[in-house]
Amino acid sequence: MVGQSSISRIEIINFRLPASIATVPERRTKAFVADDYRRKEREMDSERRRFLTRSIVGAMAVGAGGAVRTAFAMPKTERDALSPTQIIELMKRGNERFRMGVRVNRDFLREQQDRAKSQFPAAVILSCIDSRAPAELVMDLGIGDVFNTRMAGNVANSDVVGGLEFACSVAGAKVILVLGHTACGAVAGAIDGVKLGSLTGLLARIEPAVKATRHEGPRTSKDAAFVDAVARTNVEMTMRAVRSESQVLRDLEAKGALVIAGAMYDLGNAAVTFLPPHQ
Ligand SMILES: [Zn+2]
Repeated sequence: MVGQSSISRIEIINFRLPASIATVPERRTKAFVADDYRRKEREMDSERRRFLTRSIVGAMAVGAGGAVRTAFAMPKTERDALSPTQIIELMKRGNERFRMGVRVNRDFLREQQDRAKSQFPAAVILSCIDSRAPAELVMDLGIGDVFNTRMAGNVANSDVVGGLEFACSVAGAKVILVLGHTACGAVAGAIDGVKLGSLTGLLARIEPAVKATRHEGPRTSKDAAFVDAVARTNVEMTMRAVRSESQVLRDLEAKGALVIAGAMYDLGNAAVTFLPPHQ
């Protein structure tokens, strides 16, 4: 429902925080249920192995003891064999790894060299420019795995839609992910009616989401829940704007060759929470 903060939808993951991030504040550690770390670790190792056989980054391998070693570029055939749903699942798994501190141990120079002459990204992300919300990092993706369009407030104009059309219709990406985030400054600016140079026109694209968001409390940027609710509405409206502006993307979606998805990234707990399908 419009107006409900994504924060309340955070997945509770059943594992103990790794030592590398064990210094986070107590209130955050309580979000993680920590009763069976060893079992979860085994599950993650098994999941890692499944992930690596059908991975966005292709021919990664698991060495002795389950340690992940370097990747190679995914061939076109492997990317083409993935369904949009599988690609979304891989992004969710990547975010789980990021949150657990068990990211793939990448050799970025090797990835750069492998992918220098061709690219077969599986998805295109439309995300905000916020320095704390780098989509590839928080979903543990490598070089060449996804396109990423970054616009303040993850809004779409015709140029952005043109890029999405290139990514999907020309380069073969099968998922468009509109990724908003909590505590978004652009959303707060739209709520406050900020006027500043060319930013004024950009924020005007978020204003319909401000108006469309139902909220019980104060409708100001000082109310964090309202800011997050508007950000979620803005993701939904951006998804609809992308569809309405592009016959090319509508056709791909109708054929089942493309899924347009939305998600919210929580700056507080690092969770990417996908919105229900068919927004
Ligand atoms: Zn933002």
